[in-house]
Amino acid sequence: MAASSEPQALDYDAIIIGAGISGLYQLYRLRELGMRVRVLEAGTGVGGTWYWNRYPGARFDSESYSYGYSFSQELLDEWHWTEHFSPQSETLRYLNFVADKLDLRRDIQFKSRVSAAHYNDEGRSWNVTLEDGSHFTSRFLITAIGPLSAPTMPRIPGVESFKGQSCHTARWPHEPVSFEGKRVAVIGTGATGVQTIQEVAKTAGHLTVFQRTPNWCAPLHNGKIGEEEMREIRAGYPEMFKRCQETFACFLHTPDPRGTFEVTPEEREAFWEKLYGEKGFGIWQGNFRDMLIDRKANALISDFVARKIRQRVKDQAVAEKLIPKNHGFGTRRVPLETRYYEVYNQPNVTLVDINETPIERITPTGIKTSGAEYEFDIIIYATGFDAITGSFDRIDIGGAGGLKLKDKWQGGPKTYLGVQVEGFPNMMMLMGPHTALGNIPRSIEYNVEWVTGLIRHMREQGLTRAEARPEGVKSWTDHVVALGEGLLSNEIDSWMTGINRNVDGKTERIIARYSGSAPAYRERCDRVAAEGYKEMNIG
Ligand code: NAP
Repeated sequence: MAASSEPQALDYDAIIIGAGISGLYQLYRLRELGMRVRVLEAGTGVGGTWYWNRYPGARFDSESYSYGYSFSQELLDEWHWTEHFSPQSETLRYLNFVADKLDLRRDIQFKSRVSAAHYNDEGRSWNVTLEDGSHFTSRFLITAIGPLSAPTMPRIPGVESFKGQSCHTARWPHEPVSFEGKRVAVIGTGATGVQTIQEVAKTAGHLTVFQRTPNWCAPLHNGKIGEEEMREIRAGYPEMFKRCQETFACFLHTPDPRGTFEVTPEEREAFWEKLYGEKGFGIWQGNFRDMLIDRKANALISDFVARKIRQRVKDQAVAEKLIPKNHGFGTRRVPLETRYYEVYNQPNVTLVDINETPIERITPTGIKTSGAEYEFDIIIYATGFDAITGSFDRIDIGGAGGLKLKDKWQGGPKTYLGVQVEGFPNMMMLMGPHTALGNIPRSIEYNVEWVTGLIRHMREQGLTRAEARPEGVKSWTDHVVALGEGLLSNEIDSWMTGINRNVDGKTERIIARYSGSAPAYRERCDRVAAEGYKEMNIG
């Protein structure tokens, strides 16, 4: 059936929301198809996550060179990563370099926050509205809005009353903030809080950390990359990217095939010492294969890391507070750190366990807990995100027949391959719920290429409407849920299980993440494409 409105009558062939890593690459690929594409970006520049998260200490936790785009030899040849885990400023510079090199900016509209997107059945198109009231029509709507992009402030009374400087880490000012001699508070000890704390502690007059749940952190072991090493890295790119395609989650690290109890205690200890001394996520992603499913195995590695914390923190009462008691190692995202635990040996740093003395309110001059009243010049909220579905919830997304995405996803997202939703034709999600996340840019490249393949197919066949079938959604969602069974991480509250007590309705755990392997995900999606997308309703 032909569409009732011609493409020329639409403003664009595709609208992409977001100019982060996925949005930029999707723009590049759709342009190659000769499409008229508009990227709508809320910020004043490109970079997405790396544009917004400018907080002190922000940097990669996966190896820089494994994180860059792999599709362009020119980009690979020209870019020099200066650190194994580059700071945010360098990553943002990199993404600007990419945008310039590929001449992407002319199709990106900045300061354009999308407030609504509604599907028009008759026109087989999307009506997209910005906060300023302007609107556009487009055949395809591609969401490149990120799984961790809707920051959440804590629900603590008095937040607005504070007279000093305060900021959420994901809304950090573009101007430098000095902590020299200042009394600084950090609330939150996730991956962001840990990076912030270790940086702020270097110069703050006094830093007070308000911790609700400690996380299991492990050393990053960052280092500089000189010209010679960068030459070697460049020469090794083909092999390295090939490895990323083969590993479980596209990292350079992948689970060790051995079980925890298949080796002697001495071998186990030596293996963990090695991992603890190595760069990056090895201790989380490259550990024994049963670490995240076998309680006894998990308890052993947790004991190992707890011993490290006790060795590194002088005051054993403080060390005990820093050791997680309600979840095992690796069952939440492991923050990587550089002398994080040693920070608590400094005289200018205090740890406040807010389980013992809960925060009662933010006051005009600081923070009042049940135990004391603290005065601060700066309060930093490292309180995380309304993850995975939060960035969708903030846009009024209406599908065929006026169906709201938010209603459709009550009780947890339901998707087809993490890319489409039944009832939302021509909407494609990049890094949406139920896709393989892992080392994000690697997953993004695949996601973008798959979506591009689908759109190319439709254009070649003169088709104008693609929608997931109910049985496709059911089968994929059931598969994702089944994969999550038995994973210790799904028994724990965290953003990965959809919990955020600062947001209404986010108090029940859901399965929002695909937890199978990236190769298996790609195999499944490749098959759909090879079979001509016949699992979908395309017409
Ligand atoms: P997060 O892991 O969700 O941590 C938020 C922190 O704020 C938690 O410690 C949480 O405590 C605390 N918190 C929230 N509300 C609170 C309240 N009302 N009172 C007191 N404490 C409160 O968020 P994140 O640290 O921003 O990290 C999110 C994810 O972003 C990471 O897991 C990671 O995937 C990604 N990230 C990546 C990098 C990197 O690659 N380099 C860096 C940073 C972040 P509870 O745990 O008790 O809820």
